[in-house]
Amino acid sequence: MKYYSTNSKNKFFSFEQAVMKGLADDGGLFMPEFIPSLPKEFFANIESKSVTEIAIEVSKQFIEDEIPQTKLEEIITEAINFPAPVVELEKNLFVLELFHGPTLAFKDFGARFMAKTMGYFAQKENSHLNILVATSGDTGSAVANGFYNTPGINVYILYPKGKVSKIQEQQLTTLDKNITALEIDGTFDDCQRLVKSAFVDSELTSKLNLSSANSINIARLLPQSFYYMEAYKQIPDKSLPVVFSVPSGNLGNITAGLLAKKMGLPIHKFVGATNKNDVFTEFIQSGNFNPRASVQTLSNAMDVGNPGNLARIVDLYSSSIEDIRNDIYSATFNDEQTREAIKEVYKKSNYVIDPHGAVGYLALQKFLKENPNQEFTSIVLETAHPAKFKDVVEEELSIEVEIPERLATCLTKEKRAVELSFDYNSLKEFLLSF
Ligand SMILES: *Cc1c(COP(=O)(O)O)cnc(C)c1O
Repeated sequence: MKYYSTNSKNKFFSFEQAVMKGLADDGGLFMPEFIPSLPKEFFANIESKSVTEIAIEVSKQFIEDEIPQTKLEEIITEAINFPAPVVELEKNLFVLELFHGPTLAFKDFGARFMAKTMGYFAQKENSHLNILVATSGDTGSAVANGFYNTPGINVYILYPKGKVSKIQEQQLTTLDKNITALEIDGTFDDCQRLVKSAFVDSELTSKLNLSSANSINIARLLPQSFYYMEAYKQIPDKSLPVVFSVPSGNLGNITAGLLAKKMGLPIHKFVGATNKNDVFTEFIQSGNFNPRASVQTLSNAMDVGNPGNLARIVDLYSSSIEDIRNDIYSATFNDEQTREAIKEVYKKSNYVIDPHGAVGYLALQKFLKENPNQEFTSIVLETAHPAKFKDVVEEELSIEVEIPERLATCLTKEKRAVELSFDYNSLKEFLLSF
């Protein structure tokens, strides 16, 4: 399988090059040259497969012999070492719990797979890597956790000062060894801009071997398609059209779902749920893409004003907005509605949903209301554990949300972060000081 950049389709790269570069030199995002279809029997027999077997089957299509089969199996077994259960809320309505990994968010799937894949390539090439990653909350801790203690790889995490939750900050800033947290006096978009500037700075890249680990890395995207298949596998009655509602920010999650559909997974529709950062919803509705500064919301991992993966979606559908609309519906909700939804889900189903999942729930309800004459099996992706947003959830539900052990341990550790301004030169100086 070869990979091209969304900015130029006539130059090809290996999987290894795409993974190690992260972002193409021309600023585009890497895409596989085609989306392989899995055989019909794969989906017909999916119930007999483990999540590991599904993951191996899917990733083999994209990686081929660039990673030996036994090594790939090892990477997957180590990376995806936690379940993704489907839980029923109401008749024909489910949540897919993607928070059973070490950092309690769905990003563990992509980040752990990517970290182990990069670790393999770095070792093979005997090289030393510096990973720069911008985070709006959950990416950073998932990435840091995935790379923690990987020989030959240093990780720098840029996060917006004061704009991530206390728990997220603890997760970002309490790892030591090869992980450094950079607290940027700015927004997530500033963090993303700084990372992008670093990659196109030839002075810096000539001195440091830089790589990215955002959701733009193709090795983050691929493993996110595994759990759409894993979810489909668990649907008890597969006769109804399947709808996935995806709480969306940088659009990596929904893009991975689109890949799964193109590989042959029978998905009827995707609902792209957004908070007040509704650039994507506006794009689906009007066809116009107007990136703008992000605003802060309760579902802060979705606070993205310039969603990077939109370039991939447009590419997947050869720029046809009609074709995109055929597969994707989108709706946007504010914080007040999010709070109401947290209460509604608890009242109706006795289920504690986090603010991101709540936005997904709301968008799904809107889609169902607009399609009253059809029955669906609906799955809301629950992207984070409610304990990560304990304050909001407890305020709305007047209950105590228990913090899982794997999160509780980092809350007592001391925060270690380097403070930097949003000016690119301060980042550059810092990186060159090593
Ligand atoms: C990152 C994140 C999202 C948004 O996912 P994208 O792939 O950026 O669209 C939603 N919910 C949570 C909890 C996240 O961490």
